[in-house]
Amino acid sequence: MPMTQEKRSETRKRHYQKNKEKLKEKSRLSRQENPEYLKEYNKKYIKTEAGKENCNKALHKYQHTEKGKRGLRKNELKHKQKYPERYKARYSLQNAVAQNKITHPDACEECGEFKIVEGHHSDYEKPLEVQWLCPDCHRALHKDLILA
Ligand SMILES: [Zn+2]
Ligand SMILES: [Zn+2]
Repeated sequence: MPMTQEKRSETRKRHYQKNKEKLKEKSRLSRQENPEYLKEYNKKYIKTEAGKENCNKALHKYQHTEKGKRGLRKNELKHKQKYPERYKARYSLQNAVAQNKITHPDACEECGEFKIVEGHHSDYEKPLEVQWLCPDCHRALHKDLILA
């Protein structure tokens, strides 16, 4: 029996629906596999009014959770008044580098990669004794030390 006009359009519709799901799934997957895309997407989204609002709401909510409160406290702890020796050490180091008393290497002492390195103080009492680390290794080290 030949297909009626109605049946054919019905089939097409179903086909379209099926594909739509597939396409959605595909774009979802590609987003998952492509964090850069997601980052770009989020950047654009955050700039929209709805995005800003949602972002603020989420932040507000987050700040009231235990984790958020802890994060805030951590930021407070980072505050320079609480750790003047750290700031002093950094300041002395910067001065020493500026005066060529210390050479600022081009590579990370930990992984050896040529990256912008930052001085890590294991002892703030000795501001010129630093380990030069790339941000990744520096962060990893601090994670182990549980210092900020
Ligand atoms: Zn490194
Ligand atoms: Zn450090």
